[in-house]
Amino acid sequence: MTILISLYIFILGLVLGSFFNVVALRVPAKQSIVRPPSACPSCQTQLKIRDLIPVFSYLLSRGSCRYCKSKVSILYPIGELVTGLLFLWVYVHEGITGEALVGLVLVSLLVIITISDLTVMRIPNQVLMFFFPVFVVLRLVFPGGQAWWSYVLGAVIGCGIVVMISLLTRGGMGMGDAKLLLVCGFVVGLTPILVAFVLACLIGSLVGGLLLLLNIIKRKQPVPFGPYLAVGILISYGYGSDLIEAYLKLIG
Ligand SMILES: [Zn+2]
Repeated sequence: MTILISLYIFILGLVLGSFFNVVALRVPAKQSIVRPPSACPSCQTQLKIRDLIPVFSYLLSRGSCRYCKSKVSILYPIGELVTGLLFLWVYVHEGITGEALVGLVLVSLLVIITISDLTVMRIPNQVLMFFFPVFVVLRLVFPGGQAWWSYVLGAVIGCGIVVMISLLTRGGMGMGDAKLLLVCGFVVGLTPILVAFVLACLIGSLVGGLLLLLNIIKRKQPVPFGPYLAVGILISYGYGSDLIEAYLKLIG
């Protein structure tokens, strides 16, 4: 039974991941997410069911359009696969609980904003505005393990830190990042959002340094910070208390 549910959740993640790709690319471009149906960006041929099977269509057509042979971005299958794996991770971590639902919605938001931020360097407002009320309702129904003020402070302080840094560094971080931390701080609570922010900075400097060394990016080239925040938030959401405990042991 567990294996069947795992498989179902994984496939659900793949399919939704495919939809998240569409949302992440169309919302910042102010296009409808239902119309028109997906088409190849090069030859405009409308895609058929067999072109839209998550991951497999990409592998079967070896990463190019079946009609005009132009390359398809590898971000699509990666987005789908990552969503599937993260959905599975939430299920393994939380089982079938209210918190699992919170986790799945959180993963959905983070996948969408990561794809948007990577492709157009923006965290779309409309996406955040859609998810925020959903999280408010979810947290009212499934309060999680923390007091209500922890969630409120998580939102206020998470957002405040980024606004402060952005003022001090004049645009090192954007308002999209601030609003993302506001929404996610409300979901994960005060301590986890602080841990998430520290993790994002650490991972960001490590990866950023590596990309500089390998000449993939140039100095002063603006890089999106949203994906690092997304990774930090997920690690902190899943393992935040273990991380704090390990850290305290280390310094104590
Ligand atoms: Zn094409």
